[in-house]
Amino acid sequence: MLKELREIVQRVTASSDLDEAMSELVRKTRSAMQVDCCSIYLRRDLEQAYLLAATDGLALEAVGHAKIPLGEGIVGLIGEKEELINLADAQHHPKFKYLPEAHEDAFKSFLGAPIIHQRKTFGVLVVQQKEVRLFEEGEESFLVTLASQLATVIAHAEAKGNLKSPNWHGVLRGLAGSPGIAIGKAWVWRPRVELSQVTARKGDDPALQHARFDKVLVQVEEELDSMALRFKESQASESVAVFEVYQYILKDPVFIGLIREEIERGWIAGSAVKRVCEKQVAQFSTMSDPYLRERAADIRDLGQRLLTRLIHEDEGPLTPEEPIILVADEISATLIAEIPRGKLKGIVSAKGSINSHAAILARAMGIPAVMGIDHSFELLEDRTLIVDGYSGELLVEPIKSVLREYRRLMAEEAQMDELFATVRQERSQTLDGVSVSLLLNAGLSADTDIAMNDAADGVGLFRTEIPFMMRDRFPSELEQAANYRRVLTSYQGKPVCMRTLDVGGDKQLPYFPIVEENPFLGWRGIRLTLDHPEIFLVQLKAMLRASEGLDNLSVMLPMVGNLDEVRAARRLLDRAWREVSAETAAHQGTIRYPSLGVMIEVPSLLYQLPELAPLVDFWSVGTNDLTQYLLAVDRNNGRVADIYDAMHPAVLRALQQIIDAARRYAKPVSICGELAGDPVGVLVLMAMGYRRFSMNNSNIMRIKYVVRQSRTDELQKVLQEALSHQHTGAFKGVFGRYLEERGLGGLMRAGR
Ligand code: PEP
Ligand code: MG
Repeated sequence: MLKELREIVQRVTASSDLDEAMSELVRKTRSAMQVDCCSIYLRRDLEQAYLLAATDGLALEAVGHAKIPLGEGIVGLIGEKEELINLADAQHHPKFKYLPEAHEDAFKSFLGAPIIHQRKTFGVLVVQQKEVRLFEEGEESFLVTLASQLATVIAHAEAKGNLKSPNWHGVLRGLAGSPGIAIGKAWVWRPRVELSQVTARKGDDPALQHARFDKVLVQVEEELDSMALRFKESQASESVAVFEVYQYILKDPVFIGLIREEIERGWIAGSAVKRVCEKQVAQFSTMSDPYLRERAADIRDLGQRLLTRLIHEDEGPLTPEEPIILVADEISATLIAEIPRGKLKGIVSAKGSINSHAAILARAMGIPAVMGIDHSFELLEDRTLIVDGYSGELLVEPIKSVLREYRRLMAEEAQMDELFATVRQERSQTLDGVSVSLLLNAGLSADTDIAMNDAADGVGLFRTEIPFMMRDRFPSELEQAANYRRVLTSYQGKPVCMRTLDVGGDKQLPYFPIVEENPFLGWRGIRLTLDHPEIFLVQLKAMLRASEGLDNLSVMLPMVGNLDEVRAARRLLDRAWREVSAETAAHQGTIRYPSLGVMIEVPSLLYQLPELAPLVDFWSVGTNDLTQYLLAVDRNNGRVADIYDAMHPAVLRALQQIIDAARRYAKPVSICGELAGDPVGVLVLMAMGYRRFSMNNSNIMRIKYVVRQSRTDELQKVLQEALSHQHTGAFKGVFGRYLEERGLGGLMRAGR
């Protein structure tokens, strides 16, 4: 049955028309499960009923007419209980409701599964049989799998159906990724290239074309491996077989040989792929064996994957003519970094969540973003959008009065920004005279944010990974040193804390792919660099070399979970320092030994603070990962975004514990996670006793303003009051009121 299941899922998900997809599904399911009837009932809220939407087995005339009121019949019961029901003889069930127009008298056994997407019930999928019998376990899971796939198709079709109408205007809901409002036209980024879109052309260097082809071949193999892994984890493990077929084709010497022959004939790599794939697709499409016919789709898809890689490799930077709202299925930090700053007004991403690195980068750049809008986006192209980065809403083709209102809010925001800018040169000091340091998180964007920010007291976190991600090999020591030197020089006389390479998790190097089932729990940060001392040493030496004569460098280690990692890193830092110092001595230079700190972001460190204290010079709390790991909530996963909460009572307790320990062991401590740049977050942290905060460029001024409007003695009382509430909403509400009372409510929502 697995083969059938896979085939049905593929067909249904590939169909562009919902009615067609549903008819196909009921027909194929009836035959695959060898039952007498398969039907789909869709929930219609307006009519308060389930409507028969497709059937193979009941009277076709009843489709679109026969209705079962919500809460009635077995279909209603399934919808209500949101669970599968398996009955040997449904007609004897007290809830049974006979649908005369559907002619279902003959059917006795009944198996129904709810069709649910993101907690919303769209309908019920039912199979029935004349014979009295209980359905087997295998049949139950077959139906549940189909229902879950159908749910996604229906959800997308619903959104698409709405968008299809050119006059449709409405609101799509996602997650607030980066605050602010943006109004503009959608620019949909499509990573896939169709075979038919490419014009075949010849080149003059077959050796180069072979090399390009070899490179993408490896990349696509790896891409398929990691997709297969993802599918293995999910319910749809059957779909792994699809990727195995692809892998098989990719390793087929005949297929690969044909492409190479075309390259030898002078075609450039992409054109060779196009020519071979199109020929093969045409051949397979005419075959009478349905299995072989199916291979045409596999080859087309595979060819497009190869082409996409080849074409994007050739592409120059992305330069839209007018400033746009970037809309894409998945937005990576590198994609954002590729678009020139002035051309990017807002960001909308189907995948990702509030603490994906793409969202962090958007916040750093001050670009409003909405994440996790689970829709297919082609139909948004060129439509007018409003991105509300406070509420996480995306307004499509808003009506005039709504546009006017948002423009007014934007004007108010601009006024607020002007107000915040007035404190640029002022000290970051509370009304009761307590000084706090406001430092910059830099490095995520391509230009590394090194533009001198005189409002900041230094750099609290320089993320070094982006320069590694934006190229096709590890940067050399000299390249790195030049980059680090620019940053250290820009902040001469102010501290700069550089974090060693933190790749893994959601930050992948294109030339060093890591395929893991659980990347955030895997080979990431210090774990990877300690396993590769050659990479780590080069980076440390580059940092040290860059600091010569400036003496403002400190080094920080990411993802530390145990003390041996710190000891090993310290030994490597000693060695790097000795070697660079020896070289520098040759020209009478000296390199100051930098202070060494760790990020506190893996919860195991919370229980080792006394032992950690003597090993390092400072701590910096990475609340993004600390929250993710303490709560076991993926910071990138939109589905669990509502339970990712940096102000969860457990996180608050951990933060209090860290500041208490820092005081006890006289360890300088700062916060460099996103919480530090959050107006409520910073108040909470100040109330706990934190005095050093590192945040993105666009937050520095507003946080300085907030600091200058607050008093630490008041904040301590506010914290006590807030802690008396069990729920995060109420906890934040108490601090929210504090902001409102000072005229700063606009920091939490659109407008003033
Ligand atoms: C953090 O985890 O809080 C942090 C600052 O590091 P990153 O977001 O780069 O993982
Ligand atoms: Mg982190």
